[in-house]
Amino acid sequence: MAEPLLVLDGLSKRFGEQEAVRGIDLEIAEGEFIALMGPSGCGKTTTLRMIAGLEEPTSGEVRLDGERVNERKPWERDTPMVWQSLALFPYLSVRGNVEFGLKMRGMPGKERRARALKWLEQVGIDDYANRNIAQLSGGERQRVALARALVTEPRILLLDEPLSALDAHLRVRMQAEITELQRRLGITFVYVTHNQSEAFAMASRVVIMDAGLIQQIGAPREVYRAPANRFVAEFVGTNNIIEGRVRSAGGGRIGVESAHGTIEAAVPAARAPAVGDAVNLVVSADRVVLDAQAKAHSNAVSGAVISEEFIGSVVTLHLDVGGGTVFRVQKQAHELDTVDITPGQTFHVSWRAEDTYVLPA
Ligand code: ATP
Repeated sequence: MAEPLLVLDGLSKRFGEQEAVRGIDLEIAEGEFIALMGPSGCGKTTTLRMIAGLEEPTSGEVRLDGERVNERKPWERDTPMVWQSLALFPYLSVRGNVEFGLKMRGMPGKERRARALKWLEQVGIDDYANRNIAQLSGGERQRVALARALVTEPRILLLDEPLSALDAHLRVRMQAEITELQRRLGITFVYVTHNQSEAFAMASRVVIMDAGLIQQIGAPREVYRAPANRFVAEFVGTNNIIEGRVRSAGGGRIGVESAHGTIEAAVPAARAPAVGDAVNLVVSADRVVLDAQAKAHSNAVSGAVISEEFIGSVVTLHLDVGGGTVFRVQKQAHELDTVDITPGQTFHVSWRAEDTYVLPA
């Protein structure tokens, strides 16, 4: 069977003592939108630069269409990159910027202009073809950078935090535009970001990295609901982690002894830990019931309100549940319209065994 379009095979990069990327394997199919995400310094950019040919792997292989490209120069790879800084040429017009790559490839003037205009049109900025870069807004420059990278009609486009310099509103708008563009063109996008909502909103699959290693690969929903390990559970979404030890098991359920009493979790037989095993229980902050009067479910913790974080439609409450543990509860703001919340006030938080995700410790 033919290999996927892009394969990273045991790819590593060492800078002196620093192991930036530690033997990662990744297969990316034609037409996918992949987001590489993870905390600062986890190796995202280094991975992208190795795909682009801007960084030479210490070991392992980058294969395009089944062919090793480690030795190929960036311009021989057909994997252009859109940078955070955009790196547009300030002394060239919008069209001049977009034509540049074609000129380097020796495409005749007339054909070049037509192709540049086609791509300026694709990103919705053809009216500004003759403007200077200095006369454009942030979002417009963003579009020029996209057109400039796409004009050679590559099979893979690499994007390194391209929206991080934009304000929040424009960022969300550009996310939607880039996603729509990718779906329409069917070109494979590999997109680096440390921003979870951006990665989740845009990508068909996300790759979560930490310390030079891939921690999980999956569709956003899958990674959100079934984190592969504690790192992913803490990095993605707003999860509470309860440490404990399995005390009973059977009938698709386990009972876990924890600092907050016994917590029950529903777990398929294939994934069920044994009695005596140490586990981490993951409870999503948005899957719990908040009540000042009584516990709605048997899995419960109680704690006093430390703080309330209001971000428009969503409210996150931080509760001190004892033992130095802060439990987070996330609710739609309207759900709390009739609830009086004051610092120090005690609430019961409860959730179902089915909403308790079990990870080995
Ligand atoms: P960020 O989100 O902050 O950009 P990142 O996940 O993209 O982070 P990388 O830029 O890939 O991380 O860096 C991974 C590690 O390799 C970091 O510890 C970084 O300091 C180191 N590193 C990257 N480039 C070099 C270099 N040219 N020389 C030495 N160390 C480097």
